Amino acid sequence: MADLIQITNPYKIRSCQGMGNYALEIYWDDAHHSIFTFDQLRILQPPPVDQPGRTSPLAGAGNVKPHPGKVKIADGRMLISWSDGYDAIYTLEALRADCQCAECRPHPH
Ligand SMILES: [Zn+2]
Repeated sequence: MADLIQITNPYKIRSCQGMGNYALEIYWDDAHHSIFTFDQLRILQPPPVDQPGRTSPLAGAGNVKPHPGKVKIADGRMLISWSDGYDAIYTLEALRADCQCAECRPHPH
């Protein structure tokens, strides 16, 4: 019997969709449900690889808040192309770890 290397990721996304003009809704494969506001995603957003000191701006030019243009999920990561031209890659693990729902954050401070 051949060795079968199965790469499983517990952090699978079943579907995700925009929620109004301010948040992204994620339905996880284990039936968990997360809501990430765009602001939150921008804060989470890792700085560009070539500019490690830079953090991502919350607001785009002219105080227009950026929103996700394209969202792509592949290989355990989510790639968001923001409306202001900023591309960011989020690992699904990091997203799940930052879920702000009552179940994940039972005691908010
Ligand atoms: Zn949660």
